[in-house]
Amino acid sequence: MKFKLLLVDLDGVVWRGGRIVRENVEWLRSARDKGASIVFVTNNSTRSRRIYADRLSAILGYTVSVEDVYTSGYALARLLYERYGPQRVLVIGEEGLVEELVLQGHSVVNVMDGARCPIDFVVVGLDRSFNYHKLRAAHTAVKRCGAKIAVANMDNVVPVENGDVPGAGAIVSSIVSSTSQAPVIVAGKPEPYMFLAALREKGVGREEALAIGDRCDTDVEAARRADIPSVLVLTGVAGEMRQVCNADYVVGKLTELEL
Ligand SMILES: [Mg+2]
Repeated sequence: MKFKLLLVDLDGVVWRGGRIVRENVEWLRSARDKGASIVFVTNNSTRSRRIYADRLSAILGYTVSVEDVYTSGYALARLLYERYGPQRVLVIGEEGLVEELVLQGHSVVNVMDGARCPIDFVVVGLDRSFNYHKLRAAHTAVKRCGAKIAVANMDNVVPVENGDVPGAGAIVSSIVSSTSQAPVIVAGKPEPYMFLAALREKGVGREEALAIGDRCDTDVEAARRADIPSVLVLTGVAGEMRQVCNADYVVGKLTELEL
C-alpha cells in the first residue's frame, strides 16, 4: 500500500443518502487490511463524531474510533477553541454541532431565548428547522452583542436521492445579508483544516496521504489546498453531474483503484 493514510468523504463515497455503496466499502476494508489508516472527513455537521463512528463501525465491520472521524462541526468547535479559547456561542445548527461545541468547552446559548448578550460567536451549520426567529436571534447577536460569525461549511446545496436541498451556505448567506458581516472562520472543505489536522494527528506526511471524495468543489479542492493527492470517485455528486476536475485519479468506483 503506497498510501499510509486515506482521508475519506462519507456521503457519495461510503453511502449515498440511505444506501451503502458496497464496492467502495469493500475497497476500504481491503485497504485497511493492507495497512492503511482511514480517517473519515465530512462536511455534514448535523451529527456528532460519536454517531458517525457507531454507524461506520456497523457498516465496515471493525471498530471505527471517534478520533478517526472529522465532521465540520467538530472542526469548527476545535478551530474556535484554538483561536479564541472557550466561547459563548449562539448556535444555528443541529444536535451534532451543539454536542461538538460543548465537548470542546464552549457554552451554548439557547437560540429559542433569542440573543442575550454577551454572545461571542454565532455558529452556523445546516439547520433543518431554521426559521425567521433564529435568523433574528443571529442578527441581534451580531448587531447588538458584537458577535462574530463562524461556520461549519459554505455548501449551498446538499445532494439527496432525487436532486439536492439547501445547505448550510444558504443559511449563512441570509445571516451575512442581514448583518453585512462575513464569517471569520469556515471549518469545512474546501478549507484544508480537517485534512491538515488529521495529518498532524496521525503523524503522516502529505505525500503519504490520499484524499477520496465525490465532489470537485469541496473534496478535490480541499486536497489541492492541503497539497495532498486526490481521488474523485463517481459514485456521488460529480458522477451524477458528469463533472470531472483535476483530481490525481478519477474512478467510477473505488474497486477500480489499485492498492
Ligand atoms: Mg460527498
